[in-house]
Amino acid sequence: MRKKSICFVKIGAKENMVSFRQISESFEPAIEKGEFQVYFQPQYNHSTGALIGAEALVRWKSKKFGFISPADFIPALEEMSLIPTLDLYVFEHVCQFLRGCIDSNKALARVSVNMSRNDILSPDYIECLDAIRQKFDIPTRLIHVELTETAAVTGAQVVIDSIKKLHKLGYTVEMDDFGSGYSSLNVLKDIEFDVLKLDLQFINGAIGSDRGGTILSSVIRMAKWLKLPVIAEGVETVEQADFLKSVGCDYVQGYLYSKPLPVEEYEKLLGASTVGMIVPQMNIDQFVDAGRFWNPISMETLIFSNFVGAAAIVEVHTGEKCSMEILRVNQKYVRELGMNLSETEIIALNPCDVLDAESQKVYKAALERAAATREEQECETWRNITSGCCGTERICIRSSIQLIGESKVSKLYYVMIRNITNEKNVFQGMLDTERRFKAASEQANIYFWEYTVATKEMRPCFRCQRDLGLPPLLRNYPEPAIERGIFPPDYADMYRDWHRQIEKGVKSIEGVIPLTPNRIPFHVRYTTEFDENGRPVKAYGSATLVVDK
Ligand code: C2E
Ligand code: CA
Ligand code: CA
Repeated sequence: MRKKSICFVKIGAKENMVSFRQISESFEPAIEKGEFQVYFQPQYNHSTGALIGAEALVRWKSKKFGFISPADFIPALEEMSLIPTLDLYVFEHVCQFLRGCIDSNKALARVSVNMSRNDILSPDYIECLDAIRQKFDIPTRLIHVELTETAAVTGAQVVIDSIKKLHKLGYTVEMDDFGSGYSSLNVLKDIEFDVLKLDLQFINGAIGSDRGGTILSSVIRMAKWLKLPVIAEGVETVEQADFLKSVGCDYVQGYLYSKPLPVEEYEKLLGASTVGMIVPQMNIDQFVDAGRFWNPISMETLIFSNFVGAAAIVEVHTGEKCSMEILRVNQKYVRELGMNLSETEIIALNPCDVLDAESQKVYKAALERAAATREEQECETWRNITSGCCGTERICIRSSIQLIGESKVSKLYYVMIRNITNEKNVFQGMLDTERRFKAASEQANIYFWEYTVATKEMRPCFRCQRDLGLPPLLRNYPEPAIERGIFPPDYADMYRDWHRQIEKGVKSIEGVIPLTPNRIPFHVRYTTEFDENGRPVKAYGSATLVVDK
């Protein structure tokens, strides 16, 4: 925070310093001499090319000090509480300009004016402002008021009351420099802004940096769901513009399009432009209203809270094709999914691509149930997830799904997940063991083995290994067993044919075969196991001594 007495402002190229006191002393004469000029920086809808308005920005061309940047003299004037005078001066010029456009039947576009913390704290400021508007007879729809996030935080009640007053009079209120502070979410919950201005300069290295890009895109998507239009300002590069387009942010302001222009130049530009408007980009029925959405116990806050589990906000587009986007995840979600995936990688994953056909059906049904009942619904799905570190893994996720919003084209869900792969695998392992045990014990006093269809591998039981001298693994089965003379030659072809039948999907097969060089008759039986697609995976073989009755 600057302190009055020791504060100086740097001016011009020569690095001259002007004290706050000199600025405040020169202020009134400068106003009288018309040294302050209003510039207009155009704003566009870069999807349609339409000009949607302009921001009024003040310039001080001082005869005494030269050009002083507003970033320098505004804080000085704020310290001296001189800002309200300057802002009303700027506003008067804006109204004069708009009146000129109306009278001469020229193109009309809305103008945004800046409002400082000082203005809010100054009694009757809004009344004075509106008196000027009335003097020029300008409809309030042609004026937006910008209030910075930091100004909004100071003395919240005064801010809330001021915005109420402005709304009552019909003004639209924009939150300026959203993202510059840390309290953005809190501010939005208490204060009813109509438009968010997102300053790219505040989101350090936003584009190009994974995290910045993720934050930016999710803020824009969330703002849409809150029906808040977003204007991105400080857009300087084509890359930034392309990124904003890709995340659905249509309204832009910045050097890439135009610097702030003197009134005559802006007037010319306006005459040559198509004029458009800012419109909310989605028509949404929300089951969680905007106020509650930002409430500390609401979903949006919950998603970042440490008290909830792994959570995500997912947008599902209506239609036959599975089209789902993860808008936001919390840190626990990232950890729960594991496999060293980053938040950005997770957000980039289309859940439909990682779910197999069966799981897609299950997931879709749960989403539909959640939409129909408006209650939380659960489902378990298997996903094939690929990551740089771990390759592809099949993981099982239990999801609890709740509908939180709906538009004509999409639905918004709050999804909590639990990675239950380990539980599932342990359970599956138990089932396998039980089944094998059952398959084996169904056939008492026996030899048994396991045959893997795909690899033609045979794993004999301990008794087979001991009594027949077999190794623990036989490849290209049944050839090695035939070679060892366990099967008589006249049975060998029949036994080979059994394996071909197993491969083709026979459920079970059996017969009596004289085994071992001693040709002892055994009842040999195979039971085949199939996967979820009905393909044979394994066959469990057994040989039981035939006892003469
Ligand atoms: P602001 O309200 O955030 O205004 C946007 C600033 O970003 C302007 O600086 C504008 O010239 C600059 N800008 C525009 N496009 C770009 C870009 O592509 N890249 C970068 N880096 N900057 C860009 P300016 O005119 O120097 O004003 C600085 C600040 O001074 C404003 O920030 C605003 O807070 C304040 N200010 C300017 N005019 C007024 C005014 O009439 N009243 C009040 N209360 N404050 C004003
Ligand atoms: Ca501004
Ligand atoms: Ca700004």
